[in-house]
Amino acid sequence: MEVSMFLKSGIYHFENSNAVFIDPVRVLNRSYNRFRVSSSAYYSRFFESKYSKEDPTDSSHSRKRKRKQKQKRPLALNDRERIADQRHQEVRPLLLKAHEALLGATDLLAIIRNLRSDGCSSEDCGDLVSPSTEQSFVELGSVWQAPLYEITLNFPQFCEPTQDGGSSVVQFIEQRVVQMFNNLVVNEASKDVEAEFLNRRYIIPRKSCFYMSDLGQIHNLIPAESDCGFNLILVDPPWENSSAHQKLKYPTLPSRYFLSLPIKQLTHTDGALVALWVTNREKLRGFVEKELFPSWGVKYMATLYWLKVKADGLLISELDLFHHRPYECLLVGYCHGKAMDSESLSGLKPIPDNQVFISVPGDYSRKPPIGELLLEYVPGFRPAHCIELFSREMISGWTSWGNEPLYFQESRNFLKR
Ligand code: SAM
Repeated sequence: MEVSMFLKSGIYHFENSNAVFIDPVRVLNRSYNRFRVSSSAYYSRFFESKYSKEDPTDSSHSRKRKRKQKQKRPLALNDRERIADQRHQEVRPLLLKAHEALLGATDLLAIIRNLRSDGCSSEDCGDLVSPSTEQSFVELGSVWQAPLYEITLNFPQFCEPTQDGGSSVVQFIEQRVVQMFNNLVVNEASKDVEAEFLNRRYIIPRKSCFYMSDLGQIHNLIPAESDCGFNLILVDPPWENSSAHQKLKYPTLPSRYFLSLPIKQLTHTDGALVALWVTNREKLRGFVEKELFPSWGVKYMATLYWLKVKADGLLISELDLFHHRPYECLLVGYCHGKAMDSESLSGLKPIPDNQVFISVPGDYSRKPPIGELLLEYVPGFRPAHCIELFSREMISGWTSWGNEPLYFQESRNFLKR
């Protein structure tokens, strides 16, 4: 029963557990009706397990393993490390319990092993071809010509046949050319559209919009009236970190820059649920709790955990590795809206602390689409107004903002339905 629900929804609720397994591809696919997300493109990592393919005689791998073992837990901890370790020890049993629930769900595990399969070869599916290199929106958006760049949205239109005409529906394309950067680009149609930008194609989900700009322009998203604000604000900041890999993937910003995010002004009159991804660095956790949430006017409510597994269901790294935990945290809280009184929050469904989302990660730093699981705790009317800040993809019903919200929308990540 739960498996058949999972095959439709992409979400598997473990019995008697605070954990769920998510297949982001199935969840994202609900945003599209003409295209679908390619599983093989989404799951570009963690399916060909490099660990299982290791040559046991290769000493470079054993060196790596030794290095990792060393990272387990430094013998002498400084104050920050002690607090981080304490947080880890507190959450450890519930992460293990969630993982056990996954390992016990053999029917689900069998499906997870095949999540990467699209069910057909790319030729059969007629997937869209595009160049193999990525377009750097960050670079294009920062040059003097940026205001001149335009994107073309191709809206399919369907004409019913005339009484004396043929029997098939006639399809034609209505084109809309709009400014690419520093502009709210909207697909208000009930079908996904293909868009063209500098000879590449992008898929824009139905009823979604994006605003591609630098942080300096985010104030343009502040609504004139707060009853047009957002009820769910998901934030995934480009936190600084020492990983050279990250530096190649996207630019980062010092934490103090995030104090300037206009969370209060983006909040709907009825209030907003604010969800913030943080890494496991204790310095950041302290900053969020003591400075960032207070300056945004956010009252902390709960911590949720994203536990990362490989295709075989095993954790992507040892749970106790000190600097490479196989999980990340989502801190959630409420930002008061102008129309909220002290009782408004007590009328809301309480957010359970320590919920665990399990998934096989996609591309570097790509988060699973958990917005839908948060909806039941979101204040205000339905459908909720939702926005993702520092987004790299689009979701139906959401506004995506960042300096590269079309990053994962390129047509090579999709198949035609
Ligand atoms: N949530 C995304 C996902 O799941 O794929 C990952 C977001 S990533 C952690 C942070 C994003 O912030 C990157 O796309 C990065 O380019 C963007 N970013 C960095 N500096 C920025 C700036 N000054 N203004 C706007 N976006 C910025």
